[in-house]
Amino acid sequence: MSLHTPTTATVREAPEKRDRSLRRETPEPEADLRPMSTAAKRASVAGVVVPVVGLLVAVVLAWNRAVDWADLALLGGTYLLSGLGITVGYHRLLTHRAFDAPHAVRYTLATLGSTALQGAVADWVADHRKHHAFPDAEGDPHSPHGHGEGVRGVLTGLWHAHVGWLFAAQGTANHRRYAPDVLDDRGLRRISRAFPAMVALSLLAPGIVGLAVHGGPGGFLRGVLWGGLVRVALLHQVTWSINSLCHFLGRRRFATQDRSTNLAWLALPSLGEAWHHNHHAFPRSAQHGLRWFELDPSAWVIAAMERVGLARGVVRISAERQRGREPAAT
Ligand SMILES: [Zn+2]
Ligand SMILES: [Zn+2]
Repeated sequence: MSLHTPTTATVREAPEKRDRSLRRETPEPEADLRPMSTAAKRASVAGVVVPVVGLLVAVVLAWNRAVDWADLALLGGTYLLSGLGITVGYHRLLTHRAFDAPHAVRYTLATLGSTALQGAVADWVADHRKHHAFPDAEGDPHSPHGHGEGVRGVLTGLWHAHVGWLFAAQGTANHRRYAPDVLDDRGLRRISRAFPAMVALSLLAPGIVGLAVHGGPGGFLRGVLWGGLVRVALLHQVTWSINSLCHFLGRRRFATQDRSTNLAWLALPSLGEAWHHNHHAFPRSAQHGLRWFELDPSAWVIAAMERVGLARGVVRISAERQRGREPAAT
């Protein structure tokens, strides 16, 4: 089994300073966009709105008790698969290179991440690296700050960071600048281009499970609803809460150049991503939960993958290094 970059030992010190993708060196961030076609913009808006409509339908069905444990198990299972595709795959592996993995694992995670309907892998990686390059500053695609004063400014900022940036976007971050490694990987390039097919897979696969469990067209639709639309809508809200709430509410431990926060109550639904302030402090760390009580299911999955040889070169931040960082101002 070949590894992308073979490494023999666990990396204890995060070399994020060597990560060229995170450097603040882009002179004109707003001009550095990859334009979107009108059709792509419409598809993006539909990808946000349609799952929410599905979620509302599901709430009505649940209210009327037209839901069973099979529906909820399908929702839970697909949530974990898509969610880990985003957190372990898109984010920690492909955006930040927090560990290394064989090609088959990289492509599997990229495919699972695509099913979350959060954009093609090249778009997601490029936009997120741009967020880290300009956190809470001009050029950040989705900072909640800098949108005016008072309650109106706060609400406008939170809306923009949560979902408004997707509606307003004129394009994604430049792939060549922010995601050259994704472009240079033929497998990832193909997965990125196949995003429309991934969207179909994301909705049809749970439909087929629903058909097998319940039978008939009604069973198929139940699968599409609970394992497709409801799962996508819930995961959307949780992921976007990292962009909005985790730059607004919560605790800070380290002095960082951004306004990121750790939000404990969001840790489990976000599979560990809500330790977002820790992540901004140490972007290459595979663990976002840095202390024993900071629950981080994605880090548990990476540790399990490491045990069975599916992850290597896992970047971890020693307690000593954490203590060496300047604390956040109180
Ligand atoms: Zn990140
Ligand atoms: Zn952030």
